[in-house]
Amino acid sequence: MASKSLALLTRRHFSSIRPHIYPGTRLPHAKYGGRHTVTMLPGDGIGPEMMEHIKRIFSFAHFPVDFETVELNSKDLNATSLEFALMACERNGIAIKGNIETKFDHPDFISRNVEIRRRLDLYANILHCVSIPTVPTRHKGIDIVLIRENTEGREYSGLEHETIKGVIESIKLVTRRNIERIARYTFEFAAANNRKKVTAVHKANIQKLGDGLFLQVARDMAKAEYPYIEFEAMIVDNASMQLVSRPQQFDIMLMPNLYGNIISNIACGLVGGPGLVSGINVGDKYALFETGTRNTGTALAGKNVANPTAFIRAAVDMLRYLGLDADAHRLSDALFATLTEQCLHTADIGGSEKTSTLIDSIIDNLATTPKEAEAH
Ligand code: ADP
Ligand code: MG
Repeated sequence: MASKSLALLTRRHFSSIRPHIYPGTRLPHAKYGGRHTVTMLPGDGIGPEMMEHIKRIFSFAHFPVDFETVELNSKDLNATSLEFALMACERNGIAIKGNIETKFDHPDFISRNVEIRRRLDLYANILHCVSIPTVPTRHKGIDIVLIRENTEGREYSGLEHETIKGVIESIKLVTRRNIERIARYTFEFAAANNRKKVTAVHKANIQKLGDGLFLQVARDMAKAEYPYIEFEAMIVDNASMQLVSRPQQFDIMLMPNLYGNIISNIACGLVGGPGLVSGINVGDKYALFETGTRNTGTALAGKNVANPTAFIRAAVDMLRYLGLDADAHRLSDALFATLTEQCLHTADIGGSEKTSTLIDSIIDNLATTPKEAEAH
Protein backbone atom coordinates (compact mmCIF):
# COMPACT_ATOMS: atom_id res chain seq x y z
CA MET A 1 0.00 0.00 0.00
CA ALA A 2 1.63 3.18 -1.20
CA SER A 3 0.26 5.36 1.56
CA LYS A 4 1.65 3.21 4.33
CA SER A 5 4.82 4.87 5.49
CA LEU A 6 7.52 3.05 7.33
CA ALA A 7 6.72 5.09 10.42
CA LEU A 8 3.30 3.51 10.62
CA LEU A 9 4.76 0.07 10.55
CA THR A 10 4.35 -0.79 14.19
CA ARG A 11 5.91 -3.80 15.75
CA ARG A 12 2.44 -5.24 16.12
CA HIS A 13 1.82 -5.10 12.39
CA PHE A 14 4.99 -7.13 11.86
CA SER A 15 3.11 -10.32 12.57
CA SER A 16 -0.57 -9.64 12.70
CA ILE A 17 -2.59 -11.42 10.07
CA ARG A 18 -5.51 -13.63 11.04
CA PRO A 19 -5.90 -16.72 8.93
CA HIS A 20 -9.04 -18.19 10.50
CA ILE A 21 -11.59 -15.80 9.09
CA TYR A 22 -13.41 -18.08 6.74
CA PRO A 23 -16.52 -19.36 8.53
CA GLY A 24 -15.74 -22.97 7.67
CA THR A 25 -12.24 -22.80 9.11
CA ARG A 26 -12.55 -24.37 12.50
CA LEU A 27 -10.40 -24.03 15.53
CA PRO A 28 -8.28 -27.09 16.15
CA HIS A 29 -9.59 -30.12 17.92
CA ALA A 30 -6.97 -31.37 20.33
CA LYS A 31 -7.07 -29.68 23.72
CA TYR A 32 -6.53 -31.53 26.96
CA GLY A 33 -6.60 -29.91 30.40
CA GLY A 34 -6.38 -26.43 28.93
CA ARG A 35 -3.37 -27.30 26.77
CA HIS A 36 -3.30 -27.61 23.00
CA THR A 37 -1.61 -30.47 21.20
CA VAL A 38 0.10 -29.62 17.93
CA THR A 39 1.73 -32.05 15.52
CA MET A 40 5.38 -31.23 14.89
CA LEU A 41 7.00 -32.43 11.66
CA PRO A 42 10.66 -31.34 11.86
CA GLY A 43 11.49 -32.33 8.25
CA ASP A 44 14.94 -32.01 6.68
CA GLY A 45 17.79 -29.50 6.68
CA ILE A 46 17.48 -26.83 9.35
CA GLY A 47 13.94 -27.96 10.26
CA PRO A 48 14.88 -30.17 13.25
CA GLU A 49 17.14 -27.57 14.92
CA MET A 50 14.53 -24.83 14.37
CA MET A 51 11.91 -27.00 16.06
CA GLU A 52 14.23 -27.42 19.05
CA HIS A 53 14.49 -23.62 19.32
CA ILE A 54 10.70 -23.29 19.14
CA LYS A 55 10.27 -25.91 21.88
CA ARG A 56 12.81 -24.12 24.07
CA ILE A 57 11.02 -20.79 23.63
CA PHE A 58 7.58 -22.29 24.28
CA SER A 59 8.76 -24.06 27.38
CA PHE A 60 10.45 -20.91 28.74
CA ALA A 61 7.39 -18.75 28.07
CA HIS A 62 4.94 -21.35 29.44
CA PHE A 63 2.80 -21.29 26.32
CA PRO A 64 0.05 -23.91 26.79
CA VAL A 65 1.05 -26.06 23.83
CA ASP A 66 2.35 -29.63 23.73
CA PHE A 67 4.01 -30.98 20.61
CA GLU A 68 3.55 -34.46 19.20
CA THR A 69 6.60 -35.01 17.02
CA VAL A 70 6.47 -37.29 13.98
CA GLU A 71 9.69 -37.83 12.05
CA LEU A 72 9.08 -37.46 8.34
CA ASN A 73 12.02 -36.80 6.06
CA SER A 74 13.56 -37.63 2.71
CA LYS A 75 15.62 -40.51 4.14
CA ASP A 76 12.43 -42.44 4.52
CA LEU A 77 11.21 -43.69 1.17
CA ASN A 78 8.51 -45.78 2.75
CA ALA A 79 5.01 -44.32 2.70
CA THR A 80 4.14 -45.53 6.22
CA SER A 81 5.64 -42.51 7.98
CA LEU A 82 3.64 -40.22 5.72
CA GLU A 83 0.47 -41.99 6.87
CA PHE A 84 1.53 -41.61 10.52
CA ALA A 85 2.17 -37.93 9.99
CA LEU A 86 -1.19 -37.42 8.31
CA MET A 87 -2.98 -39.28 11.09
CA ALA A 88 -1.31 -37.06 13.69
CA CYS A 89 -2.28 -33.92 11.75
CA GLU A 90 -5.88 -35.11 11.49
CA ARG A 91 -6.02 -36.03 15.15
CA ASN A 92 -4.65 -32.72 16.42
CA GLY A 93 -6.06 -30.56 13.65
CA ILE A 94 -2.99 -28.38 13.55
CA ALA A 95 0.68 -28.84 12.69
CA ILE A 96 3.98 -27.01 12.46
CA LYS A 97 6.40 -28.30 9.89
CA GLY A 98 9.87 -28.05 8.42
CA ASN A 99 10.30 -28.68 4.73
CA ILE A 100 10.93 -32.18 3.43
CA GLU A 101 13.44 -32.53 0.62
CA THR A 102 11.88 -33.81 -2.60
CA LYS A 103 14.29 -36.03 -4.47
CA PHE A 104 14.47 -35.21 -8.17
CA ASP A 105 16.18 -38.50 -8.99
CA HIS A 106 13.52 -40.73 -7.45
CA PRO A 107 10.54 -40.83 -9.81
CA ASP A 108 8.50 -42.70 -7.20
CA PHE A 109 9.18 -40.27 -4.36
CA ILE A 110 6.13 -38.05 -4.40
CA SER A 111 6.64 -34.74 -2.67
CA ARG A 112 5.70 -35.23 0.99
CA ASN A 113 5.01 -31.51 1.24
CA VAL A 114 2.55 -31.45 -1.65
CA GLU A 115 0.97 -34.69 -0.51
CA ILE A 116 0.32 -33.41 3.03
CA ARG A 117 -1.28 -30.19 1.77
CA ARG A 118 -3.37 -32.13 -0.75
CA ARG A 119 -4.55 -34.85 1.65
CA LEU A 120 -5.47 -32.34 4.37
CA ASP A 121 -7.09 -30.19 1.68
CA LEU A 122 -5.16 -27.10 2.81
CA TYR A 123 -6.33 -25.05 -0.11
CA ALA A 124 -5.14 -21.61 0.96
CA ASN A 125 -1.49 -20.66 1.37
CA ILE A 126 -1.00 -17.25 2.96
CA LEU A 127 2.23 -15.27 3.25
CA HIS A 128 2.61 -11.83 4.75
CA CYS A 129 5.58 -10.07 3.19
CA VAL A 130 6.21 -6.93 5.16
CA SER A 131 9.37 -4.83 5.29
CA ILE A 132 11.19 -5.05 8.59
CA PRO A 133 13.02 -1.88 9.64
CA THR A 134 16.80 -2.57 9.98
CA VAL A 135 16.72 -5.43 7.44
CA PRO A 136 18.61 -4.11 4.40
CA THR A 137 16.52 -4.35 1.20
CA ARG A 138 16.23 -2.45 -2.08
CA HIS A 139 12.59 -1.44 -1.42
CA LYS A 140 11.01 -0.10 1.77
CA GLY A 141 7.41 0.01 2.96
CA ILE A 142 6.28 -3.30 1.47
CA ASP A 143 3.15 -4.80 3.00
CA ILE A 144 1.71 -7.53 0.79
CA VAL A 145 -0.42 -10.55 1.65
CA LEU A 146 0.00 -13.31 -0.92
CA ILE A 147 -2.83 -15.84 -1.14
CA ARG A 148 -2.13 -18.86 -3.29
CA GLU A 149 -4.38 -21.73 -4.32
CA ASN A 150 -2.57 -24.65 -2.79
CA THR A 151 -4.17 -27.83 -4.10
CA GLU A 152 -4.84 -27.75 -7.83
CA GLY A 153 -3.54 -26.43 -11.14
CA ARG A 154 -2.12 -29.89 -11.55
CA GLU A 155 0.84 -28.74 -13.62
CA TYR A 156 2.09 -28.26 -10.10
CA SER A 157 1.13 -31.69 -8.76
CA GLY A 158 3.06 -33.69 -11.30
CA LEU A 159 0.16 -34.92 -13.43
CA GLU A 160 2.29 -35.64 -16.48
CA HIS A 161 3.20 -38.48 -18.80
CA GLU A 162 5.25 -39.35 -21.86
CA THR A 163 2.77 -39.92 -24.70
CA ILE A 164 5.38 -41.16 -27.16
CA LYS A 165 9.14 -41.14 -26.66
CA GLY A 166 10.38 -37.58 -26.42
CA VAL A 167 6.90 -36.05 -26.06
CA ILE A 168 5.67 -35.11 -22.58
CA GLU A 169 2.20 -34.02 -21.69
CA SER A 170 1.80 -32.03 -18.47
CA ILE A 171 -1.74 -31.38 -17.41
CA LYS A 172 -3.09 -28.27 -15.73
CA LEU A 173 -6.41 -29.05 -14.15
CA VAL A 174 -8.59 -26.43 -12.48
CA THR A 175 -12.14 -26.56 -11.16
CA ARG A 176 -14.76 -23.89 -10.54
CA ARG A 177 -15.30 -25.25 -7.03
CA ASN A 178 -11.67 -24.78 -6.05
CA ILE A 179 -11.36 -21.39 -7.69
CA GLU A 180 -14.49 -20.23 -5.90
CA ARG A 181 -13.26 -21.28 -2.49
CA ILE A 182 -9.87 -19.61 -2.82
CA ALA A 183 -11.49 -16.43 -4.16
CA ARG A 184 -14.03 -16.51 -1.30
CA TYR A 185 -11.26 -17.03 1.23
CA THR A 186 -9.31 -14.10 -0.20
CA PHE A 187 -12.18 -11.60 -0.06
CA GLU A 188 -13.20 -12.74 3.42
CA PHE A 189 -9.58 -12.42 4.49
CA ALA A 190 -9.44 -8.91 3.04
CA ALA A 191 -12.58 -7.91 4.92
CA ALA A 192 -11.48 -9.46 8.24
CA ASN A 193 -7.98 -8.00 8.08
CA ASN A 194 -9.06 -4.57 6.88
CA ARG A 195 -7.22 -4.77 3.59
CA LYS A 196 -8.38 -2.58 0.72
CA LYS A 197 -7.42 -4.14 -2.59
CA VAL A 198 -7.16 -7.57 -4.21
CA THR A 199 -5.03 -8.11 -7.32
CA ALA A 200 -5.78 -11.37 -9.16
CA VAL A 201 -2.72 -12.65 -11.03
CA HIS A 202 -3.37 -14.68 -14.19
CA LYS A 203 -2.40 -15.45 -17.80
CA ALA A 204 -5.92 -15.47 -19.21
CA ASN A 205 -4.82 -13.81 -22.44
CA ILE A 206 -3.11 -17.09 -23.38
CA GLN A 207 -4.72 -19.73 -21.14
CA LYS A 208 -8.18 -18.53 -22.02
CA LEU A 209 -10.13 -21.37 -20.47
CA GLY A 210 -8.24 -22.29 -17.30
CA ASP A 211 -6.96 -18.89 -16.24
CA GLY A 212 -10.03 -17.35 -17.87
CA LEU A 213 -12.24 -19.19 -15.41
CA PHE A 214 -10.02 -18.15 -12.51
CA LEU A 215 -10.26 -14.52 -13.53
CA GLN A 216 -13.98 -14.58 -14.23
CA VAL A 217 -14.86 -16.21 -10.90
CA ALA A 218 -12.74 -13.73 -8.94
CA ARG A 219 -14.02 -10.72 -10.85
CA ASP A 220 -17.70 -11.73 -10.58
CA MET A 221 -17.40 -12.43 -6.86
CA ALA A 222 -15.67 -9.10 -6.24
CA LYS A 223 -18.34 -7.20 -8.09
CA ALA A 224 -21.38 -8.99 -6.72
CA GLU A 225 -20.38 -9.54 -3.11
CA TYR A 226 -17.43 -7.34 -2.14
CA PRO A 227 -18.01 -3.93 -3.73
CA TYR A 228 -16.14 -2.26 -0.86
CA ILE A 229 -12.89 -4.05 -1.76
CA GLU A 230 -11.03 -2.72 -4.78
CA PHE A 231 -10.39 -5.44 -7.36
CA GLU A 232 -7.89 -5.50 -10.20
CA ALA A 233 -6.49 -8.17 -12.51
CA MET A 234 -2.87 -8.33 -13.61
CA ILE A 235 -1.14 -10.65 -16.06
CA VAL A 236 1.56 -12.69 -14.32
CA ASP A 237 4.48 -11.39 -16.40
CA ASN A 238 3.51 -7.78 -15.75
CA ALA A 239 2.81 -8.60 -12.09
CA SER A 240 6.37 -9.94 -11.73
CA MET A 241 7.82 -6.78 -13.24
CA GLN A 242 5.58 -4.49 -11.17
CA LEU A 243 6.46 -6.41 -8.04
CA VAL A 244 10.19 -5.90 -8.37
CA SER A 245 9.92 -2.28 -9.54
CA ARG A 246 7.07 -0.87 -7.40
CA PRO A 247 6.02 -3.45 -4.80
CA GLN A 248 4.28 -0.89 -2.57
CA GLN A 249 1.31 -0.79 -4.99
CA PHE A 250 0.16 -4.26 -3.91
CA ASP A 251 -2.09 -5.07 -0.97
CA ILE A 252 -3.42 -8.64 -1.43
CA MET A 253 -2.40 -10.81 -4.37
CA LEU A 254 -4.68 -13.74 -5.28
CA MET A 255 -2.97 -16.42 -7.34
CA PRO A 256 -3.35 -19.90 -8.78
CA ASN A 257 -0.88 -22.51 -7.57
CA LEU A 258 2.17 -22.25 -9.84
CA TYR A 259 2.21 -18.46 -10.31
CA GLY A 260 1.62 -18.20 -6.58
CA ASN A 261 4.70 -20.28 -5.87
CA ILE A 262 6.93 -18.10 -8.02
CA ILE A 263 5.45 -14.72 -7.07
CA SER A 264 5.62 -15.62 -3.35
CA ASN A 265 9.31 -16.36 -3.66
CA ILE A 266 9.91 -13.03 -5.40
CA ALA A 267 8.01 -11.24 -2.64
CA CYS A 268 9.99 -13.02 0.09
CA GLY A 269 13.20 -12.02 -1.67
CA LEU A 270 12.05 -8.40 -1.69
CA VAL A 271 11.65 -8.26 2.09
CA GLY A 272 14.91 -10.04 2.90
CA GLY A 273 14.88 -13.67 1.79
CA PRO A 274 13.88 -17.18 2.78
CA GLY A 275 14.80 -16.85 6.44
CA LEU A 276 12.24 -14.19 7.28
CA VAL A 277 8.73 -15.02 6.12
CA SER A 278 6.31 -17.64 7.46
CA GLY A 279 3.66 -19.44 5.45
CA ILE A 280 0.20 -20.42 6.65
CA ASN A 281 -1.73 -23.28 5.05
CA VAL A 282 -5.41 -23.61 5.88
CA GLY A 283 -8.42 -25.56 4.69
CA ASP A 284 -11.88 -26.05 6.10
CA LYS A 285 -10.67 -28.49 8.76
CA TYR A 286 -6.94 -28.28 9.32
CA ALA A 287 -4.10 -25.78 9.50
CA LEU A 288 -0.40 -26.20 8.94
CA PHE A 289 2.32 -23.67 9.68
CA GLU A 290 5.68 -23.57 7.95
CA THR A 291 8.16 -21.20 6.33
CA GLY A 292 7.01 -19.09 3.41
CA THR A 293 9.53 -20.21 0.80
CA ARG A 294 9.56 -23.84 1.91
CA ASN A 295 13.32 -24.34 1.70
CA THR A 296 15.17 -27.03 3.54
CA GLY A 297 18.34 -24.96 4.03
CA THR A 298 20.33 -28.21 3.97
CA ALA A 299 23.67 -26.48 3.47
CA LEU A 300 23.13 -24.52 6.70
CA ALA A 301 22.04 -27.42 8.88
CA GLY A 302 23.99 -28.01 12.09
CA LYS A 303 26.04 -24.81 11.72
CA ASN A 304 24.03 -22.52 13.99
CA VAL A 305 23.85 -19.86 11.26
CA ALA A 306 20.33 -20.09 9.78
CA ASN A 307 17.91 -17.26 10.34
CA PRO A 308 15.24 -18.55 12.76
CA THR A 309 12.80 -15.68 12.02
CA ALA A 310 10.62 -17.50 9.48
CA PHE A 311 10.11 -20.48 11.78
CA ILE A 312 9.40 -18.32 14.82
CA ARG A 313 6.85 -16.34 12.87
CA ALA A 314 5.26 -19.66 11.87
CA ALA A 315 4.98 -20.36 15.61
CA VAL A 316 3.44 -16.91 16.14
CA ASP A 317 0.87 -17.57 13.38
CA MET A 318 0.11 -20.90 15.03
CA LEU A 319 -0.42 -19.33 18.47
CA ARG A 320 -2.77 -16.80 16.96
CA TYR A 321 -4.68 -19.53 15.14
CA LEU A 322 -5.05 -21.34 18.45
CA GLY A 323 -6.68 -18.23 19.89
CA LEU A 324 -3.66 -17.55 22.13
CA ASP A 325 -3.44 -13.92 21.06
CA ALA A 326 -1.57 -12.59 24.07
CA ASP A 327 1.08 -15.28 23.68
CA ALA A 328 1.31 -14.62 19.93
CA HIS A 329 1.84 -10.90 20.55
CA ARG A 330 4.42 -11.55 23.21
CA LEU A 331 6.51 -13.81 21.01
CA SER A 332 6.13 -11.58 17.97
CA ASP A 333 7.21 -8.51 19.95
CA ALA A 334 10.18 -10.36 21.45
CA LEU A 335 11.35 -11.40 17.98
CA PHE A 336 10.74 -7.95 16.55
CA ALA A 337 12.82 -6.35 19.32
CA THR A 338 15.65 -8.82 18.67
CA LEU A 339 15.69 -7.90 14.98
CA THR A 340 15.16 -4.15 15.30
CA GLU A 341 16.06 -2.83 18.77
CA GLN A 342 18.91 -5.22 19.55
CA CYS A 343 19.54 -5.38 15.79
CA LEU A 344 20.79 -8.97 15.89
CA HIS A 345 21.04 -10.26 12.33
CA THR A 346 22.19 -13.58 10.89
CA ALA A 347 24.44 -13.77 7.81
CA ASP A 348 21.62 -14.08 5.24
CA ILE A 349 20.60 -10.47 5.98
CA GLY A 350 24.10 -9.12 6.27
CA GLY A 351 24.78 -9.77 9.95
CA SER A 352 27.20 -12.07 11.70
CA GLU A 353 25.15 -13.38 14.63
CA LYS A 354 24.57 -17.03 15.33
CA THR A 355 21.09 -18.56 15.39
CA SER A 356 21.43 -19.29 19.11
CA THR A 357 22.31 -15.64 19.87
CA LEU A 358 18.97 -14.59 18.40
CA ILE A 359 17.13 -17.27 20.36
CA ASP A 360 18.83 -16.21 23.61
CA SER A 361 17.87 -12.61 22.91
CA ILE A 362 14.23 -13.56 22.20
CA ILE A 363 14.16 -15.43 25.51
CA ASP A 364 15.65 -12.41 27.32
CA ASN A 365 13.00 -10.21 25.74
CA LEU A 366 10.27 -12.61 26.81
CA ALA A 367 11.66 -12.59 30.33
CA THR A 368 11.35 -8.81 30.54
CA THR A 369 7.78 -8.72 29.19
CA PRO A 370 5.77 -10.91 31.55
CA LYS A 371 2.36 -12.01 30.44
CA GLU A 372 0.54 -9.72 32.89
CA ALA A 373 2.13 -6.68 31.25
CA GLU A 374 0.44 -7.55 27.98
CA ALA A 375 -2.07 -4.75 27.61
CA HIS A 376 -2.02 -3.80 23.94
P1 ADP B 1 15.74 -25.67 -1.70
O1 ADP B 1 15.07 -26.33 -0.54
O2 ADP B 1 14.81 -25.07 -2.68
O3 ADP B 1 16.82 -26.56 -2.25
P2 ADP B 1 17.65 -24.37 -0.07
O4 ADP B 1 17.29 -25.15 1.10
O5 ADP B 1 18.90 -24.71 -0.75
O6 ADP B 1 16.49 -24.40 -1.14
O7 ADP B 1 17.60 -22.82 0.27
C1 ADP B 1 17.76 -21.84 -0.74
C2 ADP B 1 18.67 -20.75 -0.25
O8 ADP B 1 18.07 -20.10 0.85
C3 ADP B 1 20.00 -21.24 0.22
O9 ADP B 1 20.99 -20.32 -0.18
C4 ADP B 1 19.86 -21.27 1.73
O10 ADP B 1 21.10 -21.05 2.35
C5 ADP B 1 18.93 -20.10 1.96
N1 ADP B 1 18.13 -20.27 3.18
C6 ADP B 1 17.05 -21.06 3.34
N2 ADP B 1 16.55 -20.98 4.58
C7 ADP B 1 17.34 -20.10 5.25
C8 ADP B 1 17.35 -19.58 6.58
N3 ADP B 1 16.45 -19.96 7.49
N4 ADP B 1 18.32 -18.71 6.92
C9 ADP B 1 19.22 -18.32 6.02
N5 ADP B 1 19.26 -18.76 4.75
C10 ADP B 1 18.33 -19.64 4.37
MG1 MG C 1 17.03 -27.70 -0.25
